Amino acid sequence: MELNGGRSESYGKITVIGTGPGDTEHLSKKALESVKASETVIGYSSYLRQIGDILSEKQEKLPFSMKDEIKRCEAAVKKSLEGKSVALVSGGDAGIYGMSGLLLEIIDKESLTGKIPVEIIPGIPAFCAVSAAVGAPITNDFCVVSLSNLLTPWKDIEKRLRAAAAGDFVIIIYNPKSMKRKEELTIAKNILLENIGKDRPAVIAKAATRPDEEIVITTLENIDKFDIVSMNTTIIIGNGNTYVNDLYMITRRGYGNKYDLSKNNIEKNIAEEN
Ligand code: SAH
Repeated sequence: MELNGGRSESYGKITVIGTGPGDTEHLSKKALESVKASETVIGYSSYLRQIGDILSEKQEKLPFSMKDEIKRCEAAVKKSLEGKSVALVSGGDAGIYGMSGLLLEIIDKESLTGKIPVEIIPGIPAFCAVSAAVGAPITNDFCVVSLSNLLTPWKDIEKRLRAAAAGDFVIIIYNPKSMKRKEELTIAKNILLENIGKDRPAVIAKAATRPDEEIVITTLENIDKFDIVSMNTTIIIGNGNTYVNDLYMITRRGYGNKYDLSKNNIEKNIAEEN
């Protein structure tokens, strides 16, 4: 998407780039080329470290600390006004709890919409990496709920958890824990248990695709009992059709109602055909 109607040629382009879950192998070709083509690279310091191997010495790097999202966007706008091309990098997809919305709001507030050229490049969200690592837990309707109440009131988070459980969604939990928030995951679990059985399959994945990746498959009643739960962790709780076998977590989408998926059916059919 390129939002460059009526732009002034003197402003540098801001490219908002989703860098994926961690490993730079999961960056799209376009994301990679765009990061490399930008004169200034702006982002949360640990994301800049993660993509360090694709940055060159001559690129200006502006690392920011975690809660400095507004400052990052303001720096991007400032560099653009100076005529620099900017890569604003954001983990996973930049539009999912990421930087693209805030940047567009700030550009709007500054009456620069359409003047600064902006391009948004999608990235692989962390929950897709987690899903792929364990099989196929998200084959049907799903929702993501962040347990961070920094920007969303906790009562709204509780309301969304109840609605997700009542709707039999596959439920993805982001931001399950932080230094300050230690009890929220247990409170969230108890809300989900009002509607969902304690044995419902769940996966807990820390640092998916990164060197310190750790993944466990467990059940809903145990999601708050693992040390690997941190702010780098995603939890996926299956829906009523999710099951686990020796290797995978799988959500049945309903093909079994149309086709006979009973065990050894393919071998049986081949035998009958011959
Ligand atoms: N834009 C990101 C989400 C940012 S919110 C995306 O598209 O996925 C930050 C939350 O994402 C973290 O608290 C954690 O719940 C999740 N997360 C990000 N990277 C992760 C990873 N590599 N492994 C597991 N969870 C991750």
